[in-house]
Amino acid sequence: MFDTLQDRLGSILNGLTGRGALSEKDVAGAMREVRRALLEADVALEVVREFTDKVREKAVGATIVKAIKPGQMVVKIVHDELVALLGTDGVGIDLNAASPVVIMMVGLQGSGKTTTSAKIAARLTKRDRKKVLMASLDTRRPAAQEQLRQLGAQAGVDTLPIVAGQSPTDIAARAVQAAKLGGFDVVILDTAGRTHIDEPLMAEMAEIKRRATPHEILLVADALTGQDAVNLARNFDERIGITGLVLTRMDGDGRGGAALSMRAVTGKPIKLIGTGEKMDALEEFHPGRVADRILG
Ligand code: GDP
Repeated sequence: MFDTLQDRLGSILNGLTGRGALSEKDVAGAMREVRRALLEADVALEVVREFTDKVREKAVGATIVKAIKPGQMVVKIVHDELVALLGTDGVGIDLNAASPVVIMMVGLQGSGKTTTSAKIAARLTKRDRKKVLMASLDTRRPAAQEQLRQLGAQAGVDTLPIVAGQSPTDIAARAVQAAKLGGFDVVILDTAGRTHIDEPLMAEMAEIKRRATPHEILLVADALTGQDAVNLARNFDERIGITGLVLTRMDGDGRGGAALSMRAVTGKPIKLIGTGEKMDALEEFHPGRVADRILG
């Protein structure tokens, strides 16, 4: 395993105890270690740069007090700055709109979009007593539509009957209509993913958004995404305008740097995290815990 940032900064800075304030030179060495730690935690390079600049500003001139070691002091500055950037605790899904509230799920294939759609539907049904309808808009992969139907059946959530030959936008419109007629509170649209971002995908998402006027557009992304995280989040946000992020596979052994990257480039909140394959493996996002994990 890697050394913790605390260990690394300790060996660089702790000799300075009793020396007044941190100088530019002391901080420069420390920032090299902060940079290394963030890159090892899979934070994207451009985000690392911006972040270390901010921390540097706070750390230069900070007074070294006797009670805490200089290394600990800088780790605290880094930690607080990470928490500030990652956002507030437990934002959750916003249902504050006229029924049926439409939630559009977007993301790459394999990110966990279908599973997360079903997890959210199950939670809204069980915990919040909402009447939820799910619809798969993945017309290219019948298996994906069948997967959502099965997850819905398992979780006791209705899914829109599959009609062969309809376009994704037609299915979206049919889902909203069926929800209105059936008295549903929430409609979850599980859109198609691709293995990479391309123009047809973005055009399809934009058209679905236009037809279904979603209240929430959630980008589902794998927490293990590395340098691609920035591109992914920026593309979806600029083209579609997401309202929040859901990070899946937070149960994996990655350090979760993608959370920081995606939050930094979009400014959109991380609303929920996926922590396993089971339907109840969906949790609130806690910035403090992710900051601890990034720092190791
Ligand atoms: P989609 O292509 O984006 O719809 O992805 P799926 O929902 O089909 O998920 C792909 C795989 O990832 C499935 O085997 C899921 O069970 C798994 N998966 C989804 N979310 C999580 C998670 O939070 N943790 C873990 N460990 N696996 C997940």
